[in-house]
Amino acid sequence: MSFLIKNKLGLARTGIIKTAHGNVETPNFAFVATHGFIKSLKEEDYFSLAPELTISNTFHLFVTGKHKEIKKAGGLHKMFPLKNPIMTDSGGFQVFSLGWGKKHNIGKVDKTAKNPACVQPVDKSTRPPARDVSKTTCVAGGVRACLPTGRLEKDRNPVKILSDRVIFTYDGKKFELTPRKSIKIQEDLGADIIFAFDECTSPLHDYEYNKKSLKKTHSWAKECLKAKKKNGQMLYGIVQGGIFENLRKESSSFIGALPFDGFGIGGSFGEKQMEEVIGWALSGLPENKPRHLLGIGAIKDIFIGVGKGIDTFDCVIPTREARHGAVYSMEGRLDIKRGVFEKDKKALDKGCGCFVCSSGIKRKDLRILFKENIPEAQRLATIHNIHFYKKLFGKIREAIDSGKRSNLKKLEKHYKF
Ligand SMILES: [Zn+2]
Repeated sequence: MSFLIKNKLGLARTGIIKTAHGNVETPNFAFVATHGFIKSLKEEDYFSLAPELTISNTFHLFVTGKHKEIKKAGGLHKMFPLKNPIMTDSGGFQVFSLGWGKKHNIGKVDKTAKNPACVQPVDKSTRPPARDVSKTTCVAGGVRACLPTGRLEKDRNPVKILSDRVIFTYDGKKFELTPRKSIKIQEDLGADIIFAFDECTSPLHDYEYNKKSLKKTHSWAKECLKAKKKNGQMLYGIVQGGIFENLRKESSSFIGALPFDGFGIGGSFGEKQMEEVIGWALSGLPENKPRHLLGIGAIKDIFIGVGKGIDTFDCVIPTREARHGAVYSMEGRLDIKRGVFEKDKKALDKGCGCFVCSSGIKRKDLRILFKENIPEAQRLATIHNIHFYKKLFGKIREAIDSGKRSNLKKLEKHYKF
């Protein structure tokens, strides 16, 4: 297990993460395999597509009890057809997605907030706000779309975050995760890269909440290091701190000084501040260890991350969007179900080279499969999008290795997203 930097271009870099299940050339992308497999793919697709990196979900494998079966089988690589390096997240993201994220229907990137002032009025605790904040106009003119108060009051928060543990209610049952337990489950799952248990705060959380939460994430990081017993897995610490410069820098220095094998950048990013926030989050990390940007995978954000020195990304975008009929091409993102593709005889993406495009399947053909709800449609779109993302990362690595900044810039302009 190691990380080697091959070439640098400004802050961007290419490298190799060496793991027990093979090497990952970086920058690279981890496709989401929540339950240990990528939805809608057949077993043979893994061999032909050979995604270099995937990420499975500790929380979902834990609450479904599958972690026990996987442990018995000898780990994720033994149980599922993924033979290349695998990451598992720690469950920390569910603290956010099942709690505040679910309640407020909000992602890691707050697209409604125009500047940090927008996050001030809403919340100082994990309790729902007492007043109706739907469509609250903030001082900076951003419009926040929260659920109506009535609904918030009726729903009980499914996540309780205590100083040493998180208690989830899932599917009517209670579960508990601690830093120690998260590491133990991840050791049983046997991924090559595992993450420290943290609290991923919401874009709705203000400075005070983030400050308090950071203390928890930092003490949990130390506990995770102590809890790790198994060799052969790289443990990444996670930098949090929301969109606040001093908190991000503080977290970066604190986590960066701990003996982790690599680092994840978690939490929320303002859409407009993404570049700045990533810069602050990387400021205290050692250069010679790999950096992963958690849950971010829109193509424009990938170029931002690569430019700041991020080595790996993960996100549901290419696979989830494929299942909903969004196909990636150099012409942009095509919603293949639209009528405009009814007679379109072009390949999904000219010169793509994936199994689908090479078989002569055209846009009009895929559209019919989606319109008729044939499951094969999701599989074909998933194969194509994975291939598209893999090719994108190959080109990014090539541009960095060329040593010419203009090549990376040209490539970024070429992708119309
Ligand atoms: Zn294709």
